[in-house]
Amino acid sequence: MYVIYISLFIIGIILGSFYNVVGLRLPKNESIISPGSHCVNCNHKLNWYELIPVFSYIFLHGKCRTCKQKISWQYPLIELLTGVLFVISFLLFGINYDTLISLVLVSIVITTFISDCKYMVILDEVLIIASILLLILLYFQGGLIYTFRHLLSGLLLFSTMLLIKVVGDHAFKQESLGWGDVKLSAVAGILLGFKLGTIYIFLGAVLALPYAIYQTIRQKNSMIPFGPFLVLSMIIIFWNSGLFLKFINILMGV
Ligand SMILES: [Zn+2]
Repeated sequence: MYVIYISLFIIGIILGSFYNVVGLRLPKNESIISPGSHCVNCNHKLNWYELIPVFSYIFLHGKCRTCKQKISWQYPLIELLTGVLFVISFLLFGINYDTLISLVLVSIVITTFISDCKYMVILDEVLIIASILLLILLYFQGGLIYTFRHLLSGLLLFSTMLLIKVVGDHAFKQESLGWGDVKLSAVAGILLGFKLGTIYIFLGAVLALPYAIYQTIRQKNSMIPFGPFLVLSMIIIFWNSGLFLKFINILMGV
């Protein structure tokens, strides 16, 4: 078992380091392959021992080896977080398709946090690849009809969010929801199914509310990225789906 935990942690921090590149470069239409990893200050090209996730940061004392410019702590934090969330996924679900689904979900969460917080963008590339992976995993987990039901839930959740966006845009006379949030909800529907999907929208809004109020009071930019709250809602619900399903059944009087 320890071998699985350690492997998942290592795969997690390596992928986390890749997600940093994806989340920071793709929204700017930059290639994720070239130029290779370099210092953003002096362009010094990183050697192999400066590219080891988390450990290089510690070993370099958080500074570029050439120009001594501080490296953002967000890099190792994202790497570490991905590793930890991968391990938690296996802790929660064990040897099960749900673990693999959870790994895809963690990847959506991490990349969306980076790109939406920094650029207010949720990447199509991430959503498309994640959807395909989820559909394949769902097929292996529950067969064709099961997969089709989840796909339909994705469409329903997409339509629901689109409706909220159209009404919201009209009511507030400005963009209320981003297109990224609407598209992300299709993936949430595929992942969660329709029952849990409806809760996902509510929970996302509840999670975002305190931050939205805080930003309004500070009279700062009224546009806040909604994506991070939506993906947070997704992972909370998926990781506790048994609990949430019980809750829905009580609400519906089953
Ligand atoms: Zn440098």
